[in-house]
Amino acid sequence: DRLKRGLQKTKEVMRTDVRDLFKAGEILDDQKIEEFEARLIKTDMGVAPASEICEEIRKKHGGRTVVLDDIEETVKEKLRSLLEGEGDTKWDIADPLSPLKKNPNGLTVILVAGVNGVGKTTSIAKLANLLLKQNKTVVLAAGDTFRAAAVEQLTMWANRLGCEIVTRPDGTDPASVAYSGCESALESGADYLIIDTAGRLQTHANLMEELEKIKRVISKKVPEAPHESLLVLDATTGQNGVSQAEHFTKAIECSGLILAKLDGTARGGVTVAIRQKMGIPVKYVGVGEQIDDLELFNSQGFVDALFE
Ligand code: GDP
Repeated sequence: DRLKRGLQKTKEVMRTDVRDLFKAGEILDDQKIEEFEARLIKTDMGVAPASEICEEIRKKHGGRTVVLDDIEETVKEKLRSLLEGEGDTKWDIADPLSPLKKNPNGLTVILVAGVNGVGKTTSIAKLANLLLKQNKTVVLAAGDTFRAAAVEQLTMWANRLGCEIVTRPDGTDPASVAYSGCESALESGADYLIIDTAGRLQTHANLMEELEKIKRVISKKVPEAPHESLLVLDATTGQNGVSQAEHFTKAIECSGLILAKLDGTARGGVTVAIRQKMGIPVKYVGVGEQIDDLELFNSQGFVDALFE
C-alpha cells in the first residue's frame, strides 16, 4: 500500500541492513552490532535511539547464534516503543480523522504552520481531501499572505477539490484572513476550517506574535479554537526538521505533526528522533505528490511497513 511504497527508501536501510549485516548461524559479535548502530544513525533517528536499539540486541542476542527473525523482532519492538510515547499514536487505523480533536459544538478549526517548501500547501490540500472523503464540509483560509504564490496554489487546490476558500490580497494581516475564514465557515455551517499560516522563517518573536494574534482573533469567533495546531515538517531534511520543530513549538503549542515527503528519503528514522525530542505525535505522513498520498501515522503500521 501507500505507506509501504512511501517508506521504501528507509526500508532499504532498515530491513535490508538487518538481513545484509547479520548472517544466520553466525555468532553475533559486538563489531556487527556497532556496524548496525552506525547504519541506524544514517536514518537520522538520532544517536540515543540507535544506541538503545543496539543495546537491546546486545542484551538479547549478543554472543549467541544469529536468528534473523528474532533480531528483526527485537528491532521492531524497540522501534515501536520509541515511536509510541504516551500511547497517543495508537489511533483507530480505520478512521483517518481519529488523530484530530473535534469540536463537539460545531466548527472544528485546524491551524497549519511550517516553513516554505516543506510541503505545507500540499499537506493542507491532502488533509482537506481526507475530510471531504469522510463527507465533511471544509473551508480553507489562505493565511500565508506573505507569499502570493501560496495563495494562488491553495486556491488552485480548493477549486480542484471543490471546497470554499477565503483569500485576501497579499500583505493582509494573516489574522484578519483567519478571522474572515471563521466567519465564512460559521455562516456556511462548515464542519472544518483549515487555516494556512505564513511560512517564512521568522524571528522567534515575530512568529510568536503572528500565531498568537491568529489564535486570539479566531477564539473570539470559535471559543477553544484552534482545536488542532499542526506543524508540517519535511522528512528529507532529517535532523534539520527537528530544529525547525523546536523553533515552532516555542512559538505555538503544536498538537501534532505532519511529516511530508517521507517517500523521498531514507531518513525515515527522523520520525523516531522527532518523537523522542519533541514529545509531539506525528499524526500524518506525506508519502507522495498526489492528493491521496497522506497517511494516518500509526507506530505499528509504520514499523510493519519498514520490515514487510
Ligand atoms: P510549501 O511551500 O510548504 O507550501 O510546499 P508545497 O506544498 O508547495 O510543496 C513543495 C513541493 O514538495 C511540491 O513540489 C510538492 O509536490 C512536494 N511535496 C509535498 N508533499 C510531498 C510528499 O509527501 N511527497 C513528495 N514526494 N513530494 C511532496
